[in-house]
Amino acid sequence: MYNLRIFSIIFSLLAIISTTTIISAVELETDSEDLKIIKLSEHTYQHISYLQTESWGKVACNGMIIIENSEALIFDTPADNESAKLLIEHLISNGVKIIGIVPTHFHEDCVGGLSEFKKEEIPIYISNRTLAILEKDDQYIGYEFLTFDNELTLNIADNVVNIEYSGAGHTVDNVTAYFQKDESIFGGCLVKEVGATKGNLADADVKEWSNTVSKIKHKYPNAKVVIPGHGNAGSIELLDYTIELFEEQTKK
Ligand SMILES: [Zn+2]
Ligand SMILES: [Zn+2]
Repeated sequence: MYNLRIFSIIFSLLAIISTTTIISAVELETDSEDLKIIKLSEHTYQHISYLQTESWGKVACNGMIIIENSEALIFDTPADNESAKLLIEHLISNGVKIIGIVPTHFHEDCVGGLSEFKKEEIPIYISNRTLAILEKDDQYIGYEFLTFDNELTLNIADNVVNIEYSGAGHTVDNVTAYFQKDESIFGGCLVKEVGATKGNLADADVKEWSNTVSKIKHKYPNAKVVIPGHGNAGSIELLDYTIELFEEQTKK
């Protein structure tokens, strides 16, 4: 009788725990006009927001969120402060604490919502290359940036995310992120969705682009999730596509 009661208590607890897990996974995904969040693997999410541009019209822009044990690391801010506020509030209202934001290069689609993160006192990690460019802009006076040169390792729960500079491509400062547990890569605008054109080349190094992406592919040949700066996420084929797209321009 006693054993049976213990068994039923444990069983109810398990039922509650599993229901909570399912609910929270579903609620973290969102699909509103200004912000989308899509779950790609156990801890890896893609955030999508929209940037109004002169040359390309309204552009959908991606970022990555790694969520584990109710903590989140975010890669690239949503495109503007309004969508950044939506993302921050959405995570907080679901009981998720944001432990860092990592803009992966200096363009608007990575830093456009930065002041909302500053307001919430969320640590901002940028490379010294990105800092050198942002420093010239008065709007970043008063920001406390946590900086790194070529590599940064951030912890989330008991796991690590490796942020690395592999070379120039879309810009001279573009970095990528790799979350080992899910084998997921955030390529940012250095990585193209399959079928994409070369996009904005204003600050690009088209001669180095293929070499830089090849380095990432050799380092993480088994990546399961690859998120580009714009368009659909996929897997390793996004790296292959990008390498091929810029190959003819590669310095020999
Ligand atoms: Zn860019
Ligand atoms: Zn971009």
